[in-house]
Amino acid sequence: MRYLSTRGGAVVGDALSADFTDILLGGLAADGGLAMPERIPTVDSETLNGWRSLSYASLAFEVLQRFATDIPLHTLQSLIDRSYTAEAFGSPAIAPLATLEPGLHLLKLSEGPTLAFKDMAMQLLGNLFEWVLTERGQVLNILGATSGDTGSAAEYAMRGKRGVRVVMLSPAGRMSPFQTAQMFSLLDDNIVNVAVDGVFDTSQDLVKAVSNDAPFKARWSIGTVNSINWARVVAQVVYYVHGWLRATDGLAVPGPVSFAVPSGNFGNVLAGHIARRMGVPMSRLIVATNENDVLDEFFRTGRYAPRSAARTWQTSSPSMDISKASNFERFVFDLFDGDGAKVAELWRSLDQTGQFDLGGTAAFARAATEFGFVSGRSSHAERLATIRSAFTRYGVAVDPHTADGLNIAERWREAGVPMVVLETAQPAKFAQTMIEALGAEPARPAAHVGIESRAQRYVRMPADLAQLKALIVQRCGR
Ligand SMILES: *Cc1c(COP(=O)(O)O)cnc(C)c1O
Repeated sequence: MRYLSTRGGAVVGDALSADFTDILLGGLAADGGLAMPERIPTVDSETLNGWRSLSYASLAFEVLQRFATDIPLHTLQSLIDRSYTAEAFGSPAIAPLATLEPGLHLLKLSEGPTLAFKDMAMQLLGNLFEWVLTERGQVLNILGATSGDTGSAAEYAMRGKRGVRVVMLSPAGRMSPFQTAQMFSLLDDNIVNVAVDGVFDTSQDLVKAVSNDAPFKARWSIGTVNSINWARVVAQVVYYVHGWLRATDGLAVPGPVSFAVPSGNFGNVLAGHIARRMGVPMSRLIVATNENDVLDEFFRTGRYAPRSAARTWQTSSPSMDISKASNFERFVFDLFDGDGAKVAELWRSLDQTGQFDLGGTAAFARAATEFGFVSGRSSHAERLATIRSAFTRYGVAVDPHTADGLNIAERWREAGVPMVVLETAQPAKFAQTMIEALGAEPARPAAHVGIESRAQRYVRMPADLAQLKALIVQRCGR
């Protein structure tokens, strides 16, 4: 399988196409676009139904081998087997499907080490990175800024891995005690936590400043693991296949299923779209946003207008506080049947005018008619009301992000079509909002009880580029 850029130009160096392992460690394509497979592999319904008896890891192997064709099969199998273990994900099911009421299910994607769905892809990414770096005799120093979820998922995926180091910046004293403990209690040599004076953007700006220094970046092998990484998207395709299989187990005629997806960067729901294109029978793909409703606006009107950081609200589903959906370009590429020149033109207009509008076009109409996309926006009050009603009706505590998904899902249910809401985090991570909704501290998985009292290790630093670079030089040598 070869990969192209969504903008029709070079994907790696000056090459117009590349292999899976060539794009594995990279970020943006060379021409500023994102890597996409030259075609989406399809599976017929007999093959799909034949996957019912497979374990999660074996299912992942079936999906991944169609995209990562340049990794030897036995290697891929063993990397996957090491990633999706009952030990890391709490049970052999890895992502259990819980039925709330007939026809309404919760796909539990947050059973991994950091209690959020990012672990589903990141655990595999850690093993893929270690393998490809060892193969190539390279090292990678992952530099990032986090306000919570992504940073901890990256650290738990990369800890102890050969050839990889993580330097993660976070705003000093601004994460919850739980999130702080989750990250700072990692004592592995290849994990460096840096608590920076200031807010999240202060950390983010420092990371950008380092990345803008190309010679320094190259000298110290600095990279990132952001949500545009294609391997993360493919790893997420697996749980849509798994979700469809589990929601249709035992049905005489396994038909289409709808998925409701709490969305921010569009990485999660894009994986659902790829699963549909592979042949998984789907009715609706529901994009649920919070008050930051850039994506809801697009799916309602065809207008895509990312917002500035100043116009991005802080909400009680913070992992969806995103103003610009970085994976969205891949979906638009598909709407235009892989016309890179068209995508390049749209993104030029985005740079110049801050928006584009596909309303009324045939391409936009496909999003709903052919690909089943619908959307909705949830407010703080609706979020709390949904957490309460799910608790009363089903006896289940859902986290604020999942509540946004459940809230919008209710509007789009169809008779006879199973609805699967993706659970993207466990309530224990968002205690403050859970207490506001339910009046009680959320339950914690046993392994996370008392983590605040574990020993912590981190470097405290003012917002100073020279000091950050000195730390990188000191900690990131071979
Ligand atoms: C990252 C995240 C999301 C948003 O997922 P995207 O792939 O960015 O759309 C939703 N909920 C939680 C809990 C997350 O951590």
